[in-house]
Amino acid sequence: MNADAEEAVGAHRAGVGVESPATSQHLQEEKWGYDLYPERRGEKYKPSLAKIALLGEGRESADKMKCEKNVWGCVQSSPLVKLMMAALKSSGCEVDLTRHISCEVCDVTVNGGYDSELNQVIVCQNVTRTEGMTQGVLAHELIHMFDYCRNKLDFKNVEHLACTEIRAANLTHCSFLSAMFQGDASPFKIAKAHQDCVKTKAAFSVMAIRRIDEAEARAVVDRVFDKCYNDLEPIGRRIRRNSLDMYKAYQDRYAFGYE
Ligand SMILES: [Zn+2]
Repeated sequence: MNADAEEAVGAHRAGVGVESPATSQHLQEEKWGYDLYPERRGEKYKPSLAKIALLGEGRESADKMKCEKNVWGCVQSSPLVKLMMAALKSSGCEVDLTRHISCEVCDVTVNGGYDSELNQVIVCQNVTRTEGMTQGVLAHELIHMFDYCRNKLDFKNVEHLACTEIRAANLTHCSFLSAMFQGDASPFKIAKAHQDCVKTKAAFSVMAIRRIDEAEARAVVDRVFDKCYNDLEPIGRRIRRNSLDMYKAYQDRYAFGYE
């Protein structure tokens, strides 16, 4: 499989979707990402006895229902998710919820993923539990799906991977998500801080998927940074904190030729 381990499934960690470099230790070159998404291997996730005792057996199906409800909520009401879905449709890659978005039990270090082999976004139902988190995961992973649709990215090519991670961090986590989760920041520092955020987030995403160290990941990110950071398709703008940008981006979709 060729999923981007959150991603490549690239790995998104619980919380604000930061991928954990620690998980890369468990991944082997040939099967990066597999361990993070047990259900991708056609296996049912088998919780330990301790987990069964704590959570009860009914928890998993309840989680799936809640996860699917959150996905549905985002598709109905999140301008960002609606924009990404419109962009995908206009690019000839229309999203069918039941085919392309899957709620699954994942390793607890990730909150979502994109499996390019099956062209599916994975939402980790045991980690991504709120609609807000679901929106973040969907927006991020749909950017990977868009890049794959548009350019047939090779997620095993580390520069392609770095590029799509830069774009996802740029257009979602370091803008819109930080707007929700971070406190106040001086507008004068935002441009610099934003670039640093994107570089760090992208490097950690790459490290979660590939077995390379931070210096190497940062070097790859730096090589493709300018080109990928300035590629704002399909959102068209970096979404600023506490602003109406998310709604403006959705309204502007006509200008980009999306429905
Ligand atoms: Zn990613």
